[in-house]
Amino acid sequence: MTRLRAKLAERIRREGPLSVAAFMAAALHDPEAGYYPRRNPLGQAGDFITAPEISQIFGELIGLCLAEWWDRAGRPEPVTLAELGPGRGTLMHDFLRAAATVPGFRAAISLYLVEASPVLRTAQEQRLAAFGPRFVDRIDALPDGPLLLVANEFLDALPIRQLVRRRSHWAERLVGLDSEDRLVFGEGPETPAATLVIPPALREAPCGTIVEICPAAAAIAGWLGERLTRHPGAALLVDYGYSPSAPGPTLAAVRRHAATGVLENPGEADLSAHVDFAAFAAAARAAGAAVHGPVLQGSFLAALGAEARLAKLSAGADPAQRGALESGVARLLDPAGMGNLFKALGLTSPGLPAPAGFA
Ligand code: SAH
Repeated sequence: MTRLRAKLAERIRREGPLSVAAFMAAALHDPEAGYYPRRNPLGQAGDFITAPEISQIFGELIGLCLAEWWDRAGRPEPVTLAELGPGRGTLMHDFLRAAATVPGFRAAISLYLVEASPVLRTAQEQRLAAFGPRFVDRIDALPDGPLLLVANEFLDALPIRQLVRRRSHWAERLVGLDSEDRLVFGEGPETPAATLVIPPALREAPCGTIVEICPAAAAIAGWLGERLTRHPGAALLVDYGYSPSAPGPTLAAVRRHAATGVLENPGEADLSAHVDFAAFAAAARAAGAAVHGPVLQGSFLAALGAEARLAKLSAGADPAQRGALESGVARLLDPAGMGNLFKALGLTSPGLPAPAGFA
């Protein structure tokens, strides 16, 4: 039994079954026994691998995209450059190297990282030391003013609620204990209140349908929308997910690069859910942002010039490096893999141009 499972069992005996969101928050962030606070989950030795860890071209193209957008948007200064969930700091490292080709960009930015994990903060601080990063716990602690924001594989880590369609209404899916103290899924009563949180297009789904909603993502979208109406800025969010809203469940656990049961090893496995980009876009739009996309990651990176960047880097590389560069880019663009599963969503202040890649 994991340490967190014992802790959760005790909590459930005391408070009753938990919502899936409360379970996910504890599994990922419990300070003593949660998944993120105690480890670096990324890379071969960890549990999963992400686009910036696969190819430097990912961070470079995103850096060029946002720095060039900043230039076209009238070079608002000073500007907060923020990343949500920067992992090992790889994306931002590649971003800033590429963005240095836009004159004045480096001098205009202050770098802020929104990161929950102390272990990853240390890694980011070392990787990005030359840029003097500052750390905050939450997006709403970022300083006021113009904003450029990027997030890759961040929204999928936010706790989701799961709701199940029952005879007349929807019911909250819960995590409780069986007679032998094992964690099991259950559900609460069907209520009109639960029905109200379901995207309207899905409300009449057949009995037994599970829908996921992400209140934390909606709050971030709303915050960004509001900020972008008051100050010039742009945000770029890349993740695996879907648009339009669709039924789930998509919540999944991954440990050492393999799928495992969601309730099996709480605190020892990564938990994530596919992102409902339609819901995120709607919340950002309702708060005032202009929404661009979502577009498929493969098309997005291709439109930003992935092939040209690859050719340029390959020209100076030895055959082994060239092979690695080519296979990395191929993996990010693959329509049968990351290229179509991952999507990019752009948000800007109303009236400002779309970032490149969203034509
Ligand atoms: N963007 C990186 C890492 C993705 S993993 C990459 O693409 O490689 C998810 C990241 O989000 C980790 O850095 C994790 O610690 C962070 N994270 C997850 N939930 C968070 C939260 N609620 N607040 C702040 N950071 C969070």
